[in-house]
Amino acid sequence: PDAAPLRRGLPVPQGISKTAFLVAIEELRSALGPDHVTLNDKEVKNGWYMEHPNTHDMMPLFDSEEFIASAVVYPGSVEDVKLIVKWANKHLIPLFPISIGRNLGYGGSAPRVRGSVTIDLGRRMNRILEINADDFTCLVEPGVTFYALHEEIQKRGLGDKMWIDTPDLGGGSVVGNTLDRGVGYTPYGDHWACHSGLEVVLPSVGDDGDVSVFRTGMGALGVGGENTWQCFPYGFGPYNDGIFSQSNFGIVTKMGMTLMPNPGGFESFMYTFANESDLAPLIEIIRPLRISNILENVAQLRHGLQTLSVKGHPRTNYYNGSGPMPDPIIRQHLRSTATGECAWVYYGMSYGPAHIRGHKLSIIDNEFHRIPGCKRIDPATLPADEYFWSRDRIASGTPDLEELKWVNWMPNGAHAAFSPVSPIKGADAEKLYGLAKRRHGEQGLDLMPAFCVGLREMHLIVEIVYDGTDMGMKKRVEKCLRDMIDDAAALGYGEYRTHLALMDQVAGTYNWNDNALMKFNNTLKDALDPNGILAPGRCGIWPKRYRNRGWEL
Ligand code: ADP
Repeated sequence: PDAAPLRRGLPVPQGISKTAFLVAIEELRSALGPDHVTLNDKEVKNGWYMEHPNTHDMMPLFDSEEFIASAVVYPGSVEDVKLIVKWANKHLIPLFPISIGRNLGYGGSAPRVRGSVTIDLGRRMNRILEINADDFTCLVEPGVTFYALHEEIQKRGLGDKMWIDTPDLGGGSVVGNTLDRGVGYTPYGDHWACHSGLEVVLPSVGDDGDVSVFRTGMGALGVGGENTWQCFPYGFGPYNDGIFSQSNFGIVTKMGMTLMPNPGGFESFMYTFANESDLAPLIEIIRPLRISNILENVAQLRHGLQTLSVKGHPRTNYYNGSGPMPDPIIRQHLRSTATGECAWVYYGMSYGPAHIRGHKLSIIDNEFHRIPGCKRIDPATLPADEYFWSRDRIASGTPDLEELKWVNWMPNGAHAAFSPVSPIKGADAEKLYGLAKRRHGEQGLDLMPAFCVGLREMHLIVEIVYDGTDMGMKKRVEKCLRDMIDDAAALGYGEYRTHLALMDQVAGTYNWNDNALMKFNNTLKDALDPNGILAPGRCGIWPKRYRNRGWEL
């Protein structure tokens, strides 16, 4: 039902004629096999999370034919990836690599430049190359999802011994999520910090006509580096991994990841806080607990509306008015749920055997109860389908999909995120919450904030849920996001990650010392990708061929 014929026809990339493009595609087909190249010349089909399109964003913020691929190519090996890079350099056709393409809220599988050829690495390069039960590490290809890695560990009988760390939704790729610096909810939640070792195909063709593949860290050793590739991330000399995350400098074909030993027990807990104004004092309580690891996983403090929306019912079940749903209505509906009437809900987990957990949980309980009206919800009272148990699975390394449910809030539910980083201070939380509330109010949008506390910083994640077919609403969402980014920047806050459509704006806020960072990124881009074929515009980095020619949004 959600498929529509392309209105604008085959999205041929700029700078090449349709005829020349089709000839180039035939050339790629004969090199890789006809089944491994698909032309995107028929329809836009959205599907759902587990059957998502790889040609465009199934949750478009703009018209769905704006960020769209002309074709998708499915390499089966590193050699295939090299061949695709050579082909793109020869024809000056932009490529956009994805691993799985479920990067929802940040652009999904869509390329930044219309008509790019998407390299879907995940479909065929999806092997788990190693699970090392002595070192608690693994080596994976881009197509390995959190689900697949978890299943394989169970299949090998290692489930009792080791855990993976999964983000809120488990269908994404371990490689893709880590490269985009996604997070999960065990003590191994900082995925980028937990990876060790990359294999990268570079985007240019050398004088010898070949494309470079190199390995970072210990993988660069001439002989035998595999023995420590996943154990020691740094190797010798400059640590290069960083430039391949949130960038467009290379195509990652293998990545090492650490796995967590089973901590010997775990226990989820949930607290509710009655008043909106509890936010600042609570964040002050969270900071020292988190830094000292009494709170051991990413602390999640969610607004009551998110607890309501994750039940999966449309907004119209609760409220039919326009403008943000009023607080008294939210509170009234929360009354009949497991959390009861409240402003904020805290989800956390304690790890280790019972006596160790008991020590930490009693400190947490005492500290949280310094906030008048704080309530601990006894998990024993919660039904099996309560969202709490989804958080329980995720924080103990079992992939899950429940989090998708709040997308049902709107018809044709789509979402995009505003994700600023700040210190773990009550005053910062209030400023960010305040600006989000003001901008949502101006645009008549429901505000669903969640504070996710890393170790010494917190991400505020504000997901705006909108009707993906409602152009008027999408304009308001974009305005709200752009205003929040500017407001936050003026106060000294920057985003940790952003949607394709907002990458230029966010990159522009990291402008210290006359944009020195972007100048450095541009220097790297021009050196590594002189023809500018790899993911032009990703994270605001434009190759010379595109730079200052009107591509920035
Ligand atoms: P997921 O499905 O895990 O959410 P994606 O596959 O959508 O992740 O990847 C997120 C983003 O990271 C992509 O849009 C792309 O820009 C980048 N990316 C993903 N995989 C690779 C890769 N193997 N090499 C380089 N960049 C990648």
